[in-house]
Amino acid sequence: MTVGIIQFITRFLFFSVLILFRCCGSSKGSGEKERTLGVIKPDGFSGNYTERIKEVIVEYGFNINKEMVIQLDEELAAKFYAEHSSKSFFSSLIKYMTSGPVLVMILEKENAVAHWRDLIGPTDAGKAKLTHPQSIRAMCGVDLEKNCVHGSDSHQSAEREIAFFFKETPSDEAVEKHDEL
Ligand code: GDP
Repeated sequence: MTVGIIQFITRFLFFSVLILFRCCGSSKGSGEKERTLGVIKPDGFSGNYTERIKEVIVEYGFNINKEMVIQLDEELAAKFYAEHSSKSFFSSLIKYMTSGPVLVMILEKENAVAHWRDLIGPTDAGKAKLTHPQSIRAMCGVDLEKNCVHGSDSHQSAEREIAFFFKETPSDEAVEKHDEL
């Protein structure tokens, strides 16, 4: 009974926040589009969650500008997560991120960075199942590491991460050194 009430309240709060963001916007709520990087990590991709995640992305008003499936090698994964290189979980994270293909997407809408972070939920997918049961990480993640999706944490990170994976040239081709599947 108590668990049911808690779940109801968490769901209510989660959707209220999402609706608030969608209706009232924030600093980028004046019609200005923003881009963010979304990644479906190896567990999400191999677990056949891709279609459901893409449905949610579209349901929430994102445009998928570009996407590509790539297999990260250790060097590329380490470069992408360079900020965590001194952490104790770094080698485990690199092993996880190179364990299979990932789907990399440029997502666009107003306030895309904050909306996508809201939608994916907390880093720890185990906790997300309790606190944010409607989030993407609650749906397909497992724990603090295997959390099935990535989202840029700021506008600056988003632009840096997009440039990391996608060539920002007129032809807009994917980075050649990546092995596309
Ligand atoms: P995010 O922005 O929510 O993805 O979280 P972070 O930038 O802090 O961490 C990057 C990724 O490293 C996370 O998405 C997890 O896959 C992994 N990670 C973060 N913290 C831990 C941890 O304490 N232990 C382990 N094993 N993995 C972690």
